[in-house]
Amino acid sequence: MGARHGKDVIQRLRDQPSELWHRGRRVADVTREPGLAGGVASLAELYDVQWAEPDLMLFDSPSTGDKVGRSFMIPRTQAELMSVGGAMLRWSRHTFGMMGRSPDYINRAISAYAGGADFLGQADRRFGENARRYHEHIRENDLCLTHTLINPQANRSVGPARQADPFLAARVKEETDAGFVIKGARMLATLPISDEIMVFPSTLLKATEEDAPYAFGFALPNATPGLKFLARETLDYERNHYDHPLGSRFEELDAVVIFDDVFVPWERVFLYRDVTLANQAYAATGAVVHMSHQVVCKNIAKTEFILGLVSLMIDAIGIESFQHIHEKTAEIWVALETMKAFKRAAEVDAAPNAFGVMTPAWDPLDAARNLYPRTYPRLVEIVQQVGASGLVSMPTLADVNGPMGDAIQKYYQAARVDALERIPLFRLAWDTAVSAFGSRQVLYERFFFGDPVRMAGAVFQSHDRKPYMEMVREFLLRSLQDTNDDLTRFEGEPAAAAT
Ligand SMILES: Cc1cc2nc3c(=O)[nH]c(=O)nc-3n(C[C@H](O)[C@H](O)[C@H](O)COP(=O)(O)OP(=O)(O)OC[C@H]3O[C@@H](n4cnc5c(N)ncnc54)[C@H](O)[C@@H]3O)c2cc1C
Repeated sequence: MGARHGKDVIQRLRDQPSELWHRGRRVADVTREPGLAGGVASLAELYDVQWAEPDLMLFDSPSTGDKVGRSFMIPRTQAELMSVGGAMLRWSRHTFGMMGRSPDYINRAISAYAGGADFLGQADRRFGENARRYHEHIRENDLCLTHTLINPQANRSVGPARQADPFLAARVKEETDAGFVIKGARMLATLPISDEIMVFPSTLLKATEEDAPYAFGFALPNATPGLKFLARETLDYERNHYDHPLGSRFEELDAVVIFDDVFVPWERVFLYRDVTLANQAYAATGAVVHMSHQVVCKNIAKTEFILGLVSLMIDAIGIESFQHIHEKTAEIWVALETMKAFKRAAEVDAAPNAFGVMTPAWDPLDAARNLYPRTYPRLVEIVQQVGASGLVSMPTLADVNGPMGDAIQKYYQAARVDALERIPLFRLAWDTAVSAFGSRQVLYERFFFGDPVRMAGAVFQSHDRKPYMEMVREFLLRSLQDTNDDLTRFEGEPAAAAT
């Protein structure tokens, strides 16, 4: 089949509906469901974008020669890796990074698992083969995945085995010759409006028998019997694009995933009951690095959007002469250049990993994923500081076209734009910085890649700071030596030597 068009995406979601629950009802067709259909349409658009720019977005399948999505590539050269980065940036720009879970995010994870299949095959050769075959399957059918890594937030002071119910967190219930059965829940899966789900652990498990039933990695169609998605309430206010420009388009949705005795066939399994491999899989296969590559592209697109938005707001209401406005604009620009530099450094310093997969440099991407959860909330704060009451005073399309239209034309004009231009701009700023959709974007950026506190802990533990410590220690020793020399010169008595 090869790369899909948007209509194929819509058709498949209609043909293979998953069990998605929303506001107390099972959704019959996500492509037509009010509050969800806008996000589905944007997802489908991404697949049309890839055919609008095939040279950038597609490459020749190594198995069939058909055109397939570039984010499925297992890069062997730096040029190939950079081409993946180019395609991911293009997709991110299409949604201004507001659909963080564009399909390339998990495509990169599965591509890394396939590239590092020998790692997964250590415990059981079949698991490595499964990863390779599954990657080919989703690449050739251009499938779109959601994923879930985190156990339910019930009692974080103990692991999954010590919760009130051992089947609160998804757990292996029984094993057969054909596969195993999973029971329990996982949170959270963004983009449940997709074709398949990747289930992996992310929080570290203890290498004990009690944690082993929670250690597994597999992928299944979303329409698998017993697999239920309990979606949060939509943040699309179900109105027009004028009133709700972002939320009406880019609602990717989040859902808790419930496994109600879900059968997982062996051929879909990549990891099973091996806590050590489960804890290492992300890092050892490079999946976390390739996913972070997508993340930095999303960060660039999102920051470009904020810079453009704030600049238009400044211009519209004539606040360009105030110094703090310059400072705030410069802050956004610096954030953008920082993200661009991280992406570039990661690509330029890329190197083949143990499996010969060209892998972006980790340090700049690790820095990006630690910085942006702090940057994005600040960018949204700047939108609020620049927009002030303008963010909460904009009328709706119905007001503009209604009996108050003439008054609106007069009272909503701005320094450089008339009311009809100013209102959509400030509604866009409202949807970025005030609406429920905008608020969820901030929460997303704070947490989607993990708890920032524990990510900082990982930086503290894993990055080598010794060369810098040595540098400062040498300086201190040199200072002491200089002091001794000075004292000898001026007083004839050396200071006490360091021991
Ligand atoms: C909008 C959104 C979308 C998401 N999408 C996905 C997705 O698609 N797939 C997916 O798998 N996950 C997704 N996530 C989940 C994300 O990975 C988690 O939010 C993140 O890992 C933090 O875990 P938690 O939410 O369970 O927070 P918790 O672990 O419950 O933390 C709650 C609070 O307790 C603190 N805390 C808890 N344990 C510790 C500890 N050991 N040490 C120090 N402090 C601690 C945290 O710092 C935090 O302040 C998403 C999250 C959000 C908000």
